[in-house]
Amino acid sequence: MSAMELTDAKDVTLPSATTTAVAQAAADAATAVSGRTGALSVRNVEASYSGVAAVRVTNLDMAPRKITAIIGPSGCGKTTLIRTLNRMHEVTPGARVTGRVELDGHDLYGTNVDRVRVRRLIGMVFQRPNPFPTMSIFENVAAGVRLGGIKKTEPLADTVERSLRHAALWDEVKDRLKKRATSLSGGQQQRLCIARALAVDPRVLLMDEPCSALDPIATARIEDLMSRLKDDVTIVIVTHNMQQASRVSDSTAFFLMSDDGAGYLVEAGPTQQIFSAPRERLTEDYVSGRFG
Ligand code: ADP
Ligand code: MG
Repeated sequence: MSAMELTDAKDVTLPSATTTAVAQAAADAATAVSGRTGALSVRNVEASYSGVAAVRVTNLDMAPRKITAIIGPSGCGKTTLIRTLNRMHEVTPGARVTGRVELDGHDLYGTNVDRVRVRRLIGMVFQRPNPFPTMSIFENVAAGVRLGGIKKTEPLADTVERSLRHAALWDEVKDRLKKRATSLSGGQQQRLCIARALAVDPRVLLMDEPCSALDPIATARIEDLMSRLKDDVTIVIVTHNMQQASRVSDSTAFFLMSDDGAGYLVEAGPTQQIFSAPRERLTEDYVSGRFG
């Protein structure tokens, strides 16, 4: 991917940066050939709140355009970890991150990296659907484009339609786009939030227990949608639901809390292996429901 997408364009217009900009342009041209990928790598990351570590990860790779499930008991740092992946963690007062998170080889915590761009490339969906309550269905998706600050390359209405189709919501809302987002069911609202995130064409979608507030039918629709979305985006999903992890994900990472209270990665691997033949006894106990 292009490093330019991560930095603020004005950083490279300074004369002293010209050489760097030329080298950068060459590197960007090289990655352009390989196309969009969306591989995430976590290296020696520690995330803390007011000096207290909440999660530590030495190595974790999330394959491009696959679904990685993050599982583990409450409080082991799953939410904290995925919030480090798009630089949302540091927004909490007192919260710090050390280490590297790479998107297609570019450190998201590097100098000159623009956080707004990171969040455009790595979208997020939360436990409870959080559409903008006073806005219409249309405006919710359009707001994704406006907040993302991207240049319009197609009419806004087209972007909204494309995003709603992508989120498998278009047919249900096409005749009521001006209605408030809150007039939708919970499952529809969650798909609307997914459409809002997709509107800026992200490389990665982070989902923090996206179905925990939904009924089984709405949950199944989100799971179907995820399977289709992974043609275009890398998905990282935190889930409490073991069946969901085994149904939808390609890889699974299992976390526990260490004695000092910080979460750590027990093991990660192909989902089938984690659920049928884990290497660690702790994983086996957890996935078989013996604790957690
Ligand atoms: P999980 O998502 O696995 O349940 P979290 O990432 O929410 O775990 O929490 C991990 C640890 O970080 C917990 O000990 C929790 O109390 C702490 N924590 C989470 N959010 C905050 C916060 N805003 N301020 C201080 N501590 C927090
Ligand atoms: Mg959580």
